[in-house]
Amino acid sequence: MHARCRSMDTELFFPCEGEGQGARIRRERAAKHVCEPCPVRTECRNHALITGEQFGVWGGTTEKDRRYLRPPRLGRYRS
Ligand code: SF4
Repeated sequence: MHARCRSMDTELFFPCEGEGQGARIRRERAAKHVCEPCPVRTECRNHALITGEQFGVWGGTTEKDRRYLRPPRLGRYRS
């Protein structure tokens, strides 16, 4: 309900076939800019970490960023 991306096109958050490195970097940067002030950013990022989302920008993190982050403990996530 409170996601900043709620009515946005998902193309900004997910890679498309044939996307070049430069386009990918620009797209991810723009997506992160949307996520930065999102009121559900933490929940979004935690969801991606817990479920092992392999693609896309979630909670201001790319799939590459998430490789270096640990999922939160489930009890903490639910509180
Ligand atoms: S943090 Fe998640 S819900 Fe918020 S804008 Fe980014 S992708 Fe959308």
